[in-house]
Amino acid sequence: MCKHILNAQVSIRAPCCKQWFDCVECHVETQSHRLAKSTEMTFACKKCKKAFRKDVADFDESDEYCPYCDNHFVLDAITPKPALRVEGEDPRVDSRMLKDERMKIDPDRSIYNRDRSDRLE
Ligand SMILES: [Zn+2]
Ligand SMILES: [Zn+2]
Ligand SMILES: [Zn+2]
Repeated sequence: MCKHILNAQVSIRAPCCKQWFDCVECHVETQSHRLAKSTEMTFACKKCKKAFRKDVADFDESDEYCPYCDNHFVLDAITPKPALRVEGEDPRVDSRMLKDERMKIDPDRSIYNRDRSDRLE
C-alpha cells in the first residue's frame, strides 16, 4: 500500500525501469526519469500476488478484474485527504484570522470617529 492511493489493488511494473510500483506517483517520486508509456502494462494483483498483462489501449470492463481471482482492481482511487492536515492547523489559522480582524476593526473605528467629528465641525 502506498501513500498516494490507499486502496490500490495492483502493483504496476514500469516498462522503463522494470521495477514494481504501487502507483504512477510512486514512480515519479522515486525515479528521476519519466515513466515510459506503454500500451501493454504488466500488473500484479495484490490479492493473489499473480502478475498479468493488460493492453491498456484496448481496455474494457472485463479488464478491470484480475484474471486469476476476479479482484476488481480498477477502482476510484482513495487518496489521502489533505483536508485532514488542514483541519489540524485550523485553530492556529483561526486565531491568526481573529487577530487580523481585530486589528482591522480598530483603524476602521478611528476612521469612523474621525468622519463623525468632521461632520460635526
Ligand atoms: Zn521507470
Ligand atoms: Zn504511490
Ligand atoms: Zn488476483
